[in-house]
Parts: sequence; structure tokens; C-alpha cells
Amino acid sequence: MTLEKYQKKRKFSSPDGEAGKTPEPRGKVGKSKDGEGRFVIQEHDASHLHYDLRLEIDGVLKSWAVPKEPAKTVGLKRLAMQTEDHPIEYIDFEGVIPEGNYGAGTVKVWDSGKFKMLRDSKPRPEEGNLLFELTGKKLKGNYALIHTGDKKWLFFKMKA
Ligand code: MN
Repeated sequence: MTLEKYQKKRKFSSPDGEAGKTPEPRGKVGKSKDGEGRFVIQEHDASHLHYDLRLEIDGVLKSWAVPKEPAKTVGLKRLAMQTEDHPIEYIDFEGVIPEGNYGAGTVKVWDSGKFKMLRDSKPRPEEGNLLFELTGKKLKGNYALIHTGDKKWLFFKMKA
């Protein structure tokens, strides 16, 4: 696992902050448990408002951009575009990414909590579909990420 794509897209500020650069963490590859961990969904008001779903897998945050608000209704499918892996430090990031930077706009945590892979899930997105239980403040229950091609996935709540 590397964060090369994530780091290449961004110009990081020094710890005391530098005008015009992103306040997002540079981060490094961390550690995570197999089959369970934390998740976050960040509301990202960039050129288009979207929701970034991130799951702690393989020492990084595996990430998907969801153009519509994630659904609590069983079977209501949302497109989810897989994006670059983010550092685990990103899990509680909130702030304003200044104009001129990648993803310029406001990031707020929309939901967070824990996930646990279900028995029939693949362990990581590189291997296929992910099925997991979410225990968040907004999203609770069994959810699926189904790969439909290239970077495209479908994200939805499954029957209990
Ligand atoms: Mn985003």
C-alpha cells in the first residue's frame, strides 16, 4: 500500500499552516485490523457536493466518492466512484481546502463509526465486492459495495 497518488495530488502546508495550501494531513501508511475497523463519510462541498466513504483497510482509508447522500433505505443504490487511498489520519479531517487546490471546498464529517466485514465479503476492494455491517450514527446495518466496472461501484443497504 502506498499513498503516492494521494500525496502527488496535493500541496501540503507546514504544521503551522501556510496560506493557500491544503490543511489536509500528508499522512503515512498505518496499521489496521483485518475485517474490521473504522469508517467515515465526509460531506465534501467541492465543485459538486458529494459524500466520501472511507473504510480502514490495509493501513489506509479505501475511498469512494458518492455523488448522492448515502441511503438508509434498503436497496436504494448509490453510485460510488473509487478514488485514491487516503491516510488513516484523514478519518477525522474537517476543514476548508483553499481555492486552487485539489478538491477545493469544505469537508465535514457526515457520519462515522465502525464496520465489520460479513462472512461472504472479500477482505479488500482489489479482490471484489465488499459486504459489511456499519455501526454509525446515521448508517446502521448491512451494506454492500458491488463492483460494476473500472472505478464504478454501487453502494447500498442490504436486507437485514
Ligand atoms: Mn471528495
